[in-house]
Amino acid sequence: MAEPKRVVIVGGGFGGLACARALDGTDAAVTLLDRHNYHLFTPLLYQVATALLDPSDIAFPLRRAFRKSPNVRFRQATVTGVDLDARIVRTHAGDEIGYDALVLASGGTNNYFGNAPLAEHSIGLKTLPEAMRLRNHVLSCLEEAEQTRDADERRTWLTFVVVGGGPTGVEYAGALDELLDLVLGRDYPSLKRSDARIVLVEGLDRLLGAFHPKLGRYAEETLRRSGSRSEHRRWSKRRTARRSRCGAARRSTPERSCGRQVCGRPTR
Ligand SMILES: Cc1cc2nc3c(=O)[nH]c(=O)nc-3n(C[C@H](O)[C@H](O)[C@H](O)COP(=O)(O)OP(=O)(O)OC[C@H]3O[C@@H](n4cnc5c(N)ncnc54)[C@H](O)[C@@H]3O)c2cc1C
Repeated sequence: MAEPKRVVIVGGGFGGLACARALDGTDAAVTLLDRHNYHLFTPLLYQVATALLDPSDIAFPLRRAFRKSPNVRFRQATVTGVDLDARIVRTHAGDEIGYDALVLASGGTNNYFGNAPLAEHSIGLKTLPEAMRLRNHVLSCLEEAEQTRDADERRTWLTFVVVGGGPTGVEYAGALDELLDLVLGRDYPSLKRSDARIVLVEGLDRLLGAFHPKLGRYAEETLRRSGSRSEHRRWSKRRTARRSRCGAARRSTPERSCGRQVCGRPTR
């Protein structure tokens, strides 16, 4: 009897998971590799980053997904290289995994449009650890704001800048607004919602550039009604950890002091 074809899938995201499911129950011997042991449901990542959902609500164990499969096996490993001639995948642990067919579904990376300071000073929103870091950071800002007696400093701690007016930036700004509505004046009795600001910075002249303009206008209007502001500027490369300078559109606006920066930007 012929040996089963060995299929190695790198990445248990939407692409890799769909591929492994399609091969489940076939004659192929499938090895699914991912650096994490869970599949991440990215569309709800912004809710974890705003403490509205728990991490376990959007992370599904990959082993459980295939525990009844006769031919798909999951292995947690970070792939460090592929030898296409020898048909071998190399992992961080120094293992070599042979294959007959290779599926690379390792996703993309954050795109900062060449703005290195932005990458350095903001917190991304693409992975579960980033979402949890963001959530903890926002909660720390609220704690700092509650403890200071200085009104200017309090406003600084309560100013959140979201960079990128695409779907993730808009969703995050909306959910952050919801969180602030829920906790300011209640869990943080000395803080007023009116002291907090969410500034959504977008380089294009409208939000949700990939969608119909009507949707962009609707998102902007909805955010404005709830107290968030969107500013259409390019994010300048000249900025420091606690100060944000927005370039382009309105040059007369002075440098502003911002509590924290958050990034919701495209993937590349
Ligand atoms: C915050 C956010 C919200 C989104 N919302 C939506 C939405 O509402 N609707 C929509 O259609 N799309 C949405 N997207 C886009 C969607 O998540 C991507 O298009 C989709 O995840 C791409 O699937 P993928 O399988 O190519 O990559 P991914 O889902 O990114 O999966 C890649 C996998 O590869 C693994 N991996 C990477 N490198 C290695 C390595 N070296 N070794 C081992 N494993 C590795 C990663 O751990 C990951 O599990 C959103 C994205 C983000 C970040």
